[in-house]
Amino acid sequence: MFKAFLIKYAEIGIKGKNRHLFEDALVHQIKYALKKCEGQFLISKSQGRIYVDAQTEFDYDEVVEHLQRVFGISGICPVVYVEDEGFEKLCDTIVGYIADVYPDRNKTFKINARRARKDYPKESMEINADIGEAVLKAYPEMHVDVHNPDILLCIEVREKIYIYSEIIPGPGGMPVGTGGKAMLLLSGGIDSPVAGYMIAKRGVKIDAVYFHAPPYTSDRAKQKVVDLAKIVSRYTGPIYLHVINFTDIQLYIHEKCPHEELTIIMRRYMMRIAEHIAKETECLGLITGESIGQVASQTMNSLMATNEVCELPVYRPLIGFDKQEIVEVAEKIGTFETSILPYEDCCTIFVAKHPVTKPNVNIIRRHEHNLDERIEELVKTALETDELIIVG
Ligand code: ATP
Ligand code: MG
Repeated sequence: MFKAFLIKYAEIGIKGKNRHLFEDALVHQIKYALKKCEGQFLISKSQGRIYVDAQTEFDYDEVVEHLQRVFGISGICPVVYVEDEGFEKLCDTIVGYIADVYPDRNKTFKINARRARKDYPKESMEINADIGEAVLKAYPEMHVDVHNPDILLCIEVREKIYIYSEIIPGPGGMPVGTGGKAMLLLSGGIDSPVAGYMIAKRGVKIDAVYFHAPPYTSDRAKQKVVDLAKIVSRYTGPIYLHVINFTDIQLYIHEKCPHEELTIIMRRYMMRIAEHIAKETECLGLITGESIGQVASQTMNSLMATNEVCELPVYRPLIGFDKQEIVEVAEKIGTFETSILPYEDCCTIFVAKHPVTKPNVNIIRRHEHNLDERIEELVKTALETDELIIVG
C-alpha cells in the first residue's frame, strides 16, 4: 500500500546555509542508494522534508534496507498520499489506512495534523479533532491518548495529503560529503573497514589505499580488499581505492633494518605513502583501524612512532574499542564474513618473532637511515605504479 517514504533527519546544527548542503548531500546519497534497487524513484525536497516517491513497482523491504544505509537519515516513514478530494474523503482514507496498518485496533491514538498549505479550509487543530472523531466513530474500541499514544497518526496537508504513522529508524550520522574527505588505510582485516564506516558516518567521504605485496600476498587477498571496499561503499558511495605495490619497499626494509622493528618501519612507510596520496587527492586526514594494545604495533609507543611521520591528522575511531566490540560492528555492517576469509594479508617472512612493543623513535629513525640509498626511488616507483580501482 505504501508508494512513498518521508525521510526524517536530525536538524540540529544544520541551520542557515549548512542546511542546503546537508539536504543536497542527503538527496545525492539517497539517489545513490536507490540506484541499486529495482524500480524508479523520484526524490524531492519540499519545505524541510525529503520525499522518496516510487514511480513504478518496487520491493518495499529492499528499499527500506537501502535507505537504512544512508547516513543522515534518522527515520524512514512509509507514507500514503492522496489527492485533496474533500474532508469526508480524507476521513474515509484514514479509516481505511488504520484498517490496513493496524489489524489489532485495541490501541490508543493521537492525530497530529500539519497544514503546510495555508489555503486548506481547516486549521490543524480542527483537522485533529474532526479526524479523531471519525476514527472513534469507525472504531469504538480505540481511544484517544494525547500524551502517550500507541499510534501517532501524522497528516501533512500539502498539494497532496500525506498520511503516516510508522517510523523505521535510520542509521543517524551526517550525509557523506558534508564533512570533507579522508584516506582510509584499508587492509583485509576486520578493523579497517569498520574504521572507514565510522568516519563516513560523520559525513566524511572515503578514499582508500591498500598496500599489496605480490607474490607474498596473493591476488585473492587483493580481491578481498576490493570486496570489502565494495561493502563499505554501500554506505559511503563510490570509493577510489589505490593499490600500491609495496613488495620492493618491504624487501628492502627486510634487508636493511633489524627484524624486530620491521613492522613499525613498514607501517611508517605505509603512513608516508598514504599521506602523499591523501594530499594529492584533497583528503583532509588519514584513517586507520588501530586500537590501543591490540598488537605490538599498536601500543602507545608504537602508535607514537607511526604517528610522527604524518602531518595530516590520523583518525583512529576504534582506538578505545575491544576486539569483540569491533566484531559486532563488522557483523552489523556486513564486512565480517569477508574479513575472516583466510587469505593471508602479510607474508610470515615479514613478521618478526619478537617485534618491539616499545620502539624508541630515535632508534627507529636511525635505523631508517640504513635505507637512504634506495628508499626514495622505491617510494617514487610505488607511487607511480599506483593502480586506481573505483569501487561501488
Ligand atoms: P585490520 O583488521 O584493519 O587489518 P589489524 O588488526 O590487522 O587491522 P595491523 O595489521 O596492525 O592491524 O594494521 C593496523 C592498521 O594499519 C589497519 O587497521 C589498517 O588501517 C592499516 N594497514 C595495515 N596493513 C595494511 C595494508 N596492507 N594496506 C593498507 N592498510 C593497512
Ligand atoms: Mg591487518
